[in-house]
Amino acid sequence: MKRSAPLRQSKILPRRELTRSAPLVAKSPMKKSARPKMTAPRTFAKGKDCTLCLPGCPNATETTVLCHLRQFSGGGMGIKPWDGEAILADDWCHSRLDGRVPWIKDAPEGFDLWEHIAWAIVRTHRIMHAAGVLLMKGE
Ligand SMILES: [Zn+2]
Repeated sequence: MKRSAPLRQSKILPRRELTRSAPLVAKSPMKKSARPKMTAPRTFAKGKDCTLCLPGCPNATETTVLCHLRQFSGGGMGIKPWDGEAILADDWCHSRLDGRVPWIKDAPEGFDLWEHIAWAIVRTHRIMHAAGVLLMKGE
């Protein structure tokens, strides 16, 4: 293909300095939010009965939160597993499950922590399902 007319010279704009409206380097490091992200299941958990019910549990409902289970490697450093891998637990049980309070060695003979966790998951899912917080696709 042959050009019939010569290329028109475009106007060359005078070169100017690039200017920024924001500084290139942040003045302060990115901060992690001080508050945990509130999701519907986390909000729902407040004030509910403890589902873990370790022996000695006072069922302190005013301290109940959605307790994420890290025993199944669903999270990571500073990352919680998704809200389905969590149970409703009061602070008494939560702190013992997380190991903040040593307790398991004092558990009664024949006590099975995994059985308690399994039941807590089932109870939590039933409660959240009945409340419409945890639903299956199509429900
Ligand atoms: Zn409890």
